[in-house]
Amino acid sequence: SILVQINHLRKGHFDKKISGSVADDLIIEINHSLHEWEKEQANEFEKLKNVDSYRKEFLGNVSHELKTPIFAVEGYIHTLIDGGIDDADINQVYLQKAAKSLDRLTAIVNDLETISRMEAGAMIIDWRTFNLSDLLTEVVDTHALRASEKNIKLFIAPATPKQIYVYADKERIRQVLDNLVVNSIKYGKSNGNTEISISETINDCIVHVKDNGMGIDEAHIPRLFERFYRVDKHRSRAEGGTGLGLAIVKHILESHQQSITVQSKLNEGTVFSFSIKRSV
Ligand code: ADP
Repeated sequence: SILVQINHLRKGHFDKKISGSVADDLIIEINHSLHEWEKEQANEFEKLKNVDSYRKEFLGNVSHELKTPIFAVEGYIHTLIDGGIDDADINQVYLQKAAKSLDRLTAIVNDLETISRMEAGAMIIDWRTFNLSDLLTEVVDTHALRASEKNIKLFIAPATPKQIYVYADKERIRQVLDNLVVNSIKYGKSNGNTEISISETINDCIVHVKDNGMGIDEAHIPRLFERFYRVDKHRSRAEGGTGLGLAIVKHILESHQQSITVQSKLNEGTVFSFSIKRSV
């Protein structure tokens, strides 16, 4: 190789006459190496350009997302200042709407903070063995009220699941489950259901969160886990969504070296399935 040749020369063999064919080989090899290096640099440059445009697009999205609730609050407050405060028909309503927009703003900022911490590589995984079945029960309890408001039956199947122990960061996995379950209610039908179940493979177990809600058109599936990607912006906003839930879910699972898949049929329902390492 070229390094061997150069070392050979450095070790004092340079006074030896390099035969024509060796010199030719050397030149061909140097040429080849330079060419490879050039290609690598071009790739590197292309990658940096992509990161840069990604960053710009993200910043644009963030300010757009923040603007919506800020403008709303601005509108309500100014209307109140301009006399609305004395109008018993609107004062309470406007204050409540302003408060709701501020809640949305807080939710966006919290999710952004979570994402940026994850992307800075600062996510420390608190690996522990824990009982997955218990966690599922806790998650169902947390969201029971919200589900009942839409008369959605939220349950684990089978009702008394096998006791399965997994090795992961319990609080992060809770966040994954929270986001999936909340989505299943937000995009679920009234009187529908959300079923959580577990299946096992040799090393992992797979958690399924299945709803019979509005479903997702196939065309949207590839972009679903992107930050701020929503199938229906208005619906997501009305439901208090930030568009970051699934991006966070994907991040958490990737930092566990696990993955998530989605199967969906428009107007029929959606199943999200993700893996976790089983504890041995
Ligand atoms: P959002 O805050 O908008 O819910 P997510 O990142 O959690 O953001 O989800 C992205 C989009 O994926 C949602 O806006 C919605 O269009 C779609 N989605 C997520 N979960 C479901 C589901 N269970 N059924 C139908 N659509 C879903």
